[in-house]
Amino acid sequence: MNAAMALNITTPTEAWSECLKLIKEHVTPYTFNTWFSPLKAVSLESEKLTIELPNSYFYEWIDHRYNNLLNKSIKKVLGEEAILAYKYEDPQSIERREAEERAELQVELKKPMTTLIVPVPEVQKHESNLKPSFTFDNFIKGSCNQLANAAAFAISASPGTTSFNPFFIYGGVGLGKTHLAMAVGNRVQELHPNKKVIYLSLDNFFIQYVEAIKENRQQEFSSYYQTIDVLILDDIQFFIGKEKTQELFFHIFNSLHQNNKQIILTSDKPPKELRGLDERLISRFNWGLTVDIQPPDFETRLAILNKKADEYNLQLSDEILEYIAMNVTSNIRELEGCLIRLLANVTITSREIDINLAKESVQEISTTKRNNITTDAISKIVSDYMKVDENKLRDKTRKQEIVLARQMAMYLTKELTKSSLKNIGLYFGGRDHTTVIHACETIQNLSQNDTNFKETLQNVRTKIQLACS
Ligand code: ADP
Ligand code: MG
Repeated sequence: MNAAMALNITTPTEAWSECLKLIKEHVTPYTFNTWFSPLKAVSLESEKLTIELPNSYFYEWIDHRYNNLLNKSIKKVLGEEAILAYKYEDPQSIERREAEERAELQVELKKPMTTLIVPVPEVQKHESNLKPSFTFDNFIKGSCNQLANAAAFAISASPGTTSFNPFFIYGGVGLGKTHLAMAVGNRVQELHPNKKVIYLSLDNFFIQYVEAIKENRQQEFSSYYQTIDVLILDDIQFFIGKEKTQELFFHIFNSLHQNNKQIILTSDKPPKELRGLDERLISRFNWGLTVDIQPPDFETRLAILNKKADEYNLQLSDEILEYIAMNVTSNIRELEGCLIRLLANVTITSREIDINLAKESVQEISTTKRNNITTDAISKIVSDYMKVDENKLRDKTRKQEIVLARQMAMYLTKELTKSSLKNIGLYFGGRDHTTVIHACETIQNLSQNDTNFKETLQNVRTKIQLACS
């Protein structure tokens, strides 16, 4: 009589749940929930138990770390002859299958109908660029985003026909502007599959426009955007200094608005503070609704942590959740980053999650935040934005616009990295640390006395933070 008969096991699920009982004794609850709970038994043929894994990544991890434990467990449950087999799809084959399903669907749609004549929906050629995971369902509401959320939800039911057109969302980095704008797009596609939705960051819109100019397709480009039902343009603070793009957008805006098409815009500041933006555009932005998203309060941070911890299958005590919510306050992207860090620490070190591990993770998050930003990135972004040759930041040129860009790069390096004054000086052309101090003072004075310059500095800072986050 083998072990299985002794336990009276007949189905794959029974066999697997016996294995899980054994495994549970040898790993931390977090490892168990993360790596073992998602697995399912799919078949049991004589002594071969086949387990389905979510993807190849799970296979590699489990096979590498828990092969022994798994083999021992299955042999205990099914006897010495037992074999464990894995089944999973690798990401390419998932993509391939989805593409095949889409192709099949298109063939279905094109099949001639014999009795009924149904117009065949045109297969969408344009890309919406929406992230499917940015939905209303997983957008947590709090006093910081209540109005924005309510208005966004109303718009998605009747895009273009509410008085919220354009819909202008503004607020700091990582507070959920892109998520909310995309949630509208995703919901519109769900409720109105025939409507064309397109999402673009202003930078991409600009790049596409420049391409169109190069290829002499401006007319085509502009006409295309006039056929969109919901146009989402993200981070429009970067319109500044792009007069021709603003001009083109002005025409697209007018045409869309006249035809009751929805326009959604986001920015890090309200329209009236967008210096350097065409007055005609600013006045049009005020035709619709402007709302802000504020940094999340403690309650909302806690709610977000609870929800995200659930999504990652992490069980955290109230003490830990509250510790993180108290200490990671600036934005939601960072809260998420902290949980991911915690999850990584747990799986890599197999430690139990306790308040100390939580503290370490919060600590690591605040240091990587600074470490992610490199002087290279700052130098590149500053020179791009200020339209100067990057190499000139490091040579002897004293031309005014170069000196200003160089000083700005030094100032931002001091602010955003841990680099010392000495190293900053060395990086920007082997200069002395007193030159760096002088640069920082100059930039500080300028930004206190010149609102346009302050604006420019803020834009460059945001670009760096976005590029390095
Ligand atoms: P922004 O565009 O304002 O810089 P994002 O929309 O990119 O910020 O949000 C940053 C991250 O935080 C995203 O992963 C997003 O899903 C998440 N996030 C932001 N707000 C919320 C919210 N209210 N509920 C849940 N997740 C959120
Ligand atoms: Mg964004």
